[in-house]
Amino acid sequence: MPLPRDLPVVDHHCHLSPNGEGVGAARRFRDAGGTHLFLATQNYHPGPPVTLEDYAAQFDTTEALADRIRRETGVEVYPVLAPYPIDLIGAARSLGLAAAAELQEAAMDLAGRRIEDGRAVALGEIGRPHFPVDPTVQEAADRVFVRALEVARDAGCPAVVHCADLDPDGYRELAAFTARTGFPLGRLIKHYARTALPASDRAGIVPSYLARSELVAEVESDAAPWFLETDFLDDPRRPGAVLDLATVPRRAVRRIAADPTAADRLRVPFQRSVEMVYGFTPTVDRDHPP
Ligand SMILES: [Zn+2]
Repeated sequence: MPLPRDLPVVDHHCHLSPNGEGVGAARRFRDAGGTHLFLATQNYHPGPPVTLEDYAAQFDTTEALADRIRRETGVEVYPVLAPYPIDLIGAARSLGLAAAAELQEAAMDLAGRRIEDGRAVALGEIGRPHFPVDPTVQEAADRVFVRALEVARDAGCPAVVHCADLDPDGYRELAAFTARTGFPLGRLIKHYARTALPASDRAGIVPSYLARSELVAEVESDAAPWFLETDFLDDPRRPGAVLDLATVPRRAVRRIAADPTAADRLRVPFQRSVEMVYGFTPTVDRDHPP
């Protein structure tokens, strides 16, 4: 494997489930050269959470899985916690929209407290439905989104945004929405970014690019901060819905094999960007694995 001894390989956004491949997927990630995972929570049951206890149990599951992966594979895992924005719609069917929005806000506070306690590194996914919804639902979702940004601002952590793919106007609109809460744009991450745009067209928002090979080639020389991710879903019912968890290390190996100077450029998403946005630096010593 041509990976430099001290180059970490980081997937900035994935989901893993104890009901899916779970630890086994992290092991494949490691065997392909991966070293660090940002693990976003998800709803692990068929229906959306309808009580705060449901969300506490969900976050517990994510944290426990992160611990198991660290212990059993040596991969470092950074949990990312928040109630999934789309769950608002499902929960509103049984609770009503107002109560469902209140539940999301309470779960947001819970996630914020866990971040303050060092149990997770960012608030996410937060944001908006990526498809058109009824205006009253949109309004409720936007109120929850504002609350999320306030929670992340007060916890002093990055926020990972779920929304439709953004063009320059979309980035500007999201930046204006966010600026009203006082949340710093340099810590606002647009996850699942599928369009390479220059920094001047992103209004200060940090992109986490889907690690498709053409997209990686396009953004590889961009200045920090930006990330690479798979958004792996670990859902056996939806194979191929997103990229496989081994994708980021495979891309890194391939880029560096073709051109060894790519290793330096890949320090941007894997180290420098994490440092800038999160305030810590992923490190590795491949000669002495943990
Ligand atoms: Zn996701």
